[in-house]
Amino acid sequence: MTYRVEVEKDLPVRSAEFAKAVDATLTDRRGWTAAGSYAFQRTGTADLRVVLATPSTTDRLCAPLQTRGKVSCRMGNDVVINARRWVYGADSYKGELAKYRQYVINHEVGHSLGLGHESCPEPGADAPVMLQQTLGLQGCEANPWP
Ligand SMILES: [Zn+2]
Repeated sequence: MTYRVEVEKDLPVRSAEFAKAVDATLTDRRGWTAAGSYAFQRTGTADLRVVLATPSTTDRLCAPLQTRGKVSCRMGNDVVINARRWVYGADSYKGELAKYRQYVINHEVGHSLGLGHESCPEPGADAPVMLQQTLGLQGCEANPWP
């Protein structure tokens, strides 16, 4: 799968910095490539666009999904990462912003791979990456990897 990376202008995040985080997450050996079924490459012309966007742009790109300025989404060929989450993380990942960023990229790209949401299988287990961990962990442990 090929992808390109964009940062909405006026955001205080350099696009090179965002691209580095996305690249590192998607090519990490703990990530979607682990099972050997997927491979990722960043190109300028890819269909899949991973975009870091302001909360209001996120809502617009994600509609009719209701992101309410708070969460990220995958809509069509867009993976839209809400800059509010990128900067502040989520309660479920307190003090672990880098890990949260890995989670949100893996989760939304997981939707691009055709995967839907999952629940916590049992208390104390690693949360499935397709659990909506931004909203809570259902008793599972935060886990950014598939
Ligand atoms: Zn989701």
